[in-house]
Amino acid sequence: MDQNKSKIITIGYLVLMVIIIIVLNSGGGGDHSVATHDSSSDVSAHKEAVEPEVKPSEFEALNKALEQIALKESGEAEAVEGEKKSVNPLADKIAPDAALLKLKEGNIRFAKGESTHPNLDPERRLLAATENQNAHAFATVLSCSDSRVPVEAIFDAGVMDIFTIRVAGNVCDTDEIGSIEYGAAHVLTPVVVVLGHTQCGAVTAVTHSLQGHGGHELEENIPPLIDNVEPAVKKAIEFHPEIQGDDIIPIAIEQNVWTAIEDLLTKSPAVREYVINGYIKLVGAIYDIGTGNIDWLSEQKVLEILSNIQASPNSDAPAVKAEESDGSKDAEATEEAAAKEEAAAPPAEEQSDEPAVEEAQEQDSQEDKAEEESAPQEEPAEEEPAVDKA
Ligand SMILES: [Zn+2]
Repeated sequence: MDQNKSKIITIGYLVLMVIIIIVLNSGGGGDHSVATHDSSSDVSAHKEAVEPEVKPSEFEALNKALEQIALKESGEAEAVEGEKKSVNPLADKIAPDAALLKLKEGNIRFAKGESTHPNLDPERRLLAATENQNAHAFATVLSCSDSRVPVEAIFDAGVMDIFTIRVAGNVCDTDEIGSIEYGAAHVLTPVVVVLGHTQCGAVTAVTHSLQGHGGHELEENIPPLIDNVEPAVKKAIEFHPEIQGDDIIPIAIEQNVWTAIEDLLTKSPAVREYVINGYIKLVGAIYDIGTGNIDWLSEQKVLEILSNIQASPNSDAPAVKAEESDGSKDAEATEEAAAKEEAAAPPAEEQSDEPAVEEAQEQDSQEDKAEEESAPQEEPAEEEPAVDKA
């Protein structure tokens, strides 16, 4: 008797479970109530009734969902692809390497005394007055204001060839960074050069000052200018304690170029993006005022600086020490630049985004204005006092 009882109970539970499963599987459809009623009489019949109904609809739904996901993904991929293609604003310009080659060839002609003085005739002037410079200019150059570094001349270039920013010590502070952003994003120059030079008066003056023989007091606005040079010189001295006196100056000059590049990449999301996407090439260089030759610095080093900045949780964080790639000089320079970044604190990341956006919105209307604005930067040649000391 007990066995029969437990059998009945077991069957009863089974029936109840099946009913629950059917009810759940029917998912509130129109035949929900029918299935509930029928299931109480015949379990196997209901299984058959339920399975052909639920399974195909589940598969259909699953297939549809998979199809939709696949379609969405391919659509997104196409959209991203399309976006990438349309985003490069320099697509119609010569390639960055070709632009760099033009600068290199022009400098070789100049140094050899074989300048061709291109694009300086009245026709070019007429063209400049009637066409947008962004169809012609191929380089943005940040250089020192020093009269011994006439930018167009040393690259054997002319009107509407180079978007030039000149400031004592070729420092990269807010105005210079804004000008470079304009050169890259609006004048559409495929190459950006940070150009230091031998015997730089600004670097020399800062070096002498840090070595304790600075000479006369500086005018009011010079300290805020050279505070961009100081970290570079300090690091050059720190990393080369064996080098005494003026022998440190060439190292400080190169470090000053790396510091400017690092400042630019740290504070300009726009320039970072252009470099990362390969729209522009950013290079450092040192012009020898005696020979007229330009020493082009490691391109790899620029990418290492960029990668270190990207690896930092925010741009104010110190850059990670770079691997040696192009000689010990470069690695040291990166360490120095990293340490410099520690010193240079303000949260420029968020601020620098805004000018870039603003600029993008006012491209055409600002073109002339920006050109006018960048010119006065060359005027205050505050290097004279520095040159006195050099
Ligand atoms: Zn200089």
